[in-house]
Amino acid sequence: MRTCCALILSCLFVAGGLFPSVAYCCSVAFSHLTVRLQPEEQQLTATARLGLASVGADQDCRLSLSPQAHIEHLTANNIPLTYRFDAGRLSFLLPTAQKDMPEIVLSYRIRYDDPLPQTTIGVEDPSFGVGATIGAQGAYLSPSTAWYPQSGLPQGPISLRIEGPVGFYGVTSGRLGDYGTADGTSFIEWKVDASRDPLALAAGYYQVFSDQLGDIQVLAFLGSQNAALASTYLDPTKKYLRFFQRLLGPYPYEKFAVVENFLPTGYGLPSWTLLGSHIISLPFIPHTSLPHELVHSWFGNVVGVDYATGNWAEGLTSYLSDYLLKEQLSEGHGRDYRLKLLRDYASLVSADDDYPLEAFVSRRSKTDQAIGYGKSAMVFHMLRRKIGEEGFWDGLRGVVAEGRGQRFSWSDLQRIFEQASNTDLTDFFDQWIYRSGAARLSFEDVRVVDTGAGREVRGVVVQTGLPFALKLALQLKTEAGLVERCMAVDGDRTSFVFRTDAPVLKLVGDPGIDIFRTFLPAELPATINDLRASTNLLVVVPAPDDPLFLASHDLLLGLQQQGAEVIDWASFVAEQATGRDLLFVGAPSPSVRSATGLSHLQAGEGWFRWRGVRYQDLDHSLFVSEKTAETGRVVALFHPLSASAAQAVARKISHYGRYSHLVFRGGANLYKATGDPVAQGFSVDLGSGQFSEPVR
Ligand SMILES: [Zn+2]
Repeated sequence: MRTCCALILSCLFVAGGLFPSVAYCCSVAFSHLTVRLQPEEQQLTATARLGLASVGADQDCRLSLSPQAHIEHLTANNIPLTYRFDAGRLSFLLPTAQKDMPEIVLSYRIRYDDPLPQTTIGVEDPSFGVGATIGAQGAYLSPSTAWYPQSGLPQGPISLRIEGPVGFYGVTSGRLGDYGTADGTSFIEWKVDASRDPLALAAGYYQVFSDQLGDIQVLAFLGSQNAALASTYLDPTKKYLRFFQRLLGPYPYEKFAVVENFLPTGYGLPSWTLLGSHIISLPFIPHTSLPHELVHSWFGNVVGVDYATGNWAEGLTSYLSDYLLKEQLSEGHGRDYRLKLLRDYASLVSADDDYPLEAFVSRRSKTDQAIGYGKSAMVFHMLRRKIGEEGFWDGLRGVVAEGRGQRFSWSDLQRIFEQASNTDLTDFFDQWIYRSGAARLSFEDVRVVDTGAGREVRGVVVQTGLPFALKLALQLKTEAGLVERCMAVDGDRTSFVFRTDAPVLKLVGDPGIDIFRTFLPAELPATINDLRASTNLLVVVPAPDDPLFLASHDLLLGLQQQGAEVIDWASFVAEQATGRDLLFVGAPSPSVRSATGLSHLQAGEGWFRWRGVRYQDLDHSLFVSEKTAETGRVVALFHPLSASAAQAVARKISHYGRYSHLVFRGGANLYKATGDPVAQGFSVDLGSGQFSEPVR
């Protein structure tokens, strides 16, 4: 997802729209909440003063509150009410005399003790299964836990005072008010405008840092260990806010806060982001995850997602942040990023697992990421090329203007982009949003013909599988330079004729990597993602008493290959390699290297050589993933020079999914690269520039 990242951070923007709500017959015009967090008791106690409006005809009122709540008392205009509280639904009848805007006071306490995960290695669920927890490590209450009373309808302004032990501060949406410590209690106040979605809350022993960009509060809530990073986040926040406001219009919230979390999350919430402690200290996060979460303020948060018709916001956000910042560096960086998206799709999505973008809701696997983030980003790239810069950016600003406070579907986006560009996009959306798959393109019957008046390159563009309607760029490399032209491709076979005077060398299809297309396995370099996706992996590890054995377990956990067949070196025979993907852990013997196609590797007990450098310190380790030219099978080797080197990197390997070759010293990466594919892609070598017979 991020080319400069060693770690891939999964993002989840968290809104209430994913969760069903029950029917309610009163709405909340305003709320004043006082919430006291008690980490030692793993609970909160709260008092909510609510102004009600639109009470049902029978004075019947229903609110939702966490099913784990214990109601302590409930009054209307100071008169105790009888109520029922069942399965998270609080029902009560208001006395007739109190029909007009009664003020309800509700006191309650809730214990939140979701167990924390034993390990987060290889866990794809971005929430790690934690919906709500309060403890000494901090607190996180997701928007779906109803930690305060909610009507299920858009709710009026909320003023919130969060109290806790000294130094324990809570963060939520809205504008920061007063905060401090008095009488042995820390407090912090937030004011939230009318909100469509329920609020999340995070808390911890934070130091509070604040800055300002115009009226926007720029905040960081960091634990003492990461407090020194405050300016590392506040300055880029201001820089990217300026950048995205130029593109998308005014930032839609009162503040943006970077908040540290005890779980390794990458959440984007309305006006704040919740980043795990280890993640927040990684040097690239202020320039990768941070801009991504900022863009979610516009797409995903202020303009919500109608999940029933597909989540378009992750792809759009990825395109506008992760991708666009690369494109800003250079066209080459942008092209490389697009190539990686296509390679991810080809290596991570099998035909059986594929689904159309309208079915993407959230990321639960690498497949989801390759489709819901990667393919979706490429679709926005193709849309931008189809309707032009003006139509695209006007359309995006139109989406923000019309969608504020709404939940938008793909068809809402289609309508607005059609208006902005005056273009019918029915076919485009039909094939890219409501159909699965990617274009599979190749050349056939390409030949160079002497016409007497010059040269013609003739051939056919073939689409395998259900064809797409595309505008395809063809590039001809000639002795006089590069020539490019565009052609419409529609159907299984589209003939073309390319006229040129100079002797031709090579024909390349889609040279800019602007079309969402898939590759044959041999066109893909071997990567670590191939090991994750392998369905027949054979793992060869040292014996259980070998110091490297333990690290093998972490490695497989990270690769989500706990179920792979594992044997030890002593029992491995070359015949077992037939038809299998292979992963070796430890020093490879010469016979194994030659039997498995790794004979070019220079490595042995206590050393290895990589790109001309010999590594022999105990903290060095090597990871190599390659493909055999004949079968396309993956052969990988993890060769750490000591048990401690192995443990330092074993669980990290899976984060380098797009790479083929890695060298580490301790836990630090020294070298990373993606290898070359064994076969050429969508191109034809036309050799010496002479006229030719048809080539396939
Ligand atoms: Zn995201």
